[in-house]
Amino acid sequence: MSEHSENCIFCKIIAGQIPAKKVHEDDEIIAFHDINPAAPLHLLIVPKTHIETLADVRPADEAVLGKMMAIAPRLAFENGAPPMPEGGLRVIMNVGPSGGQEVYHIHLHVLAGDKPWRGFA
Ligand code: 5GP
Ligand code: ZN
Repeated sequence: MSEHSENCIFCKIIAGQIPAKKVHEDDEIIAFHDINPAAPLHLLIVPKTHIETLADVRPADEAVLGKMMAIAPRLAFENGAPPMPEGGLRVIMNVGPSGGQEVYHIHLHVLAGDKPWRGFA
């Protein structure tokens, strides 16, 4: 597995080759608005390393996966998720064809707003 994959849409966003509405970027991850939101707030948190699926994760990737999960609430609340204790958010990762994965560069979906689960098949 290489760091970047030529035909990967998320690698192109990371490289700045195609635009995205970014809400966060650091050395290891990037987060941006989903182009086809399934909820009032729908962010994607993506590692900069090209990892195809959660099933391809190696021990060396565990820290960045933890970072993706740990930053999700902060990014959600900064971008309009209803605040706790009444509000909240939902995080989802689709894995493989029958898991509903369409982009084969792992990403965490962050959904929030009015009943975000209803809009997400
Ligand atoms: P998956 O089904 O792989 O878990 O989710 C892929 C997500 O990526 C979908 O929600 C889709 O709307 C989003 N997506 C696909 N292409 C682009 C793109 O070029 N830009 C952005 N911002 N989101 C995209
Ligand atoms: Zn990629």
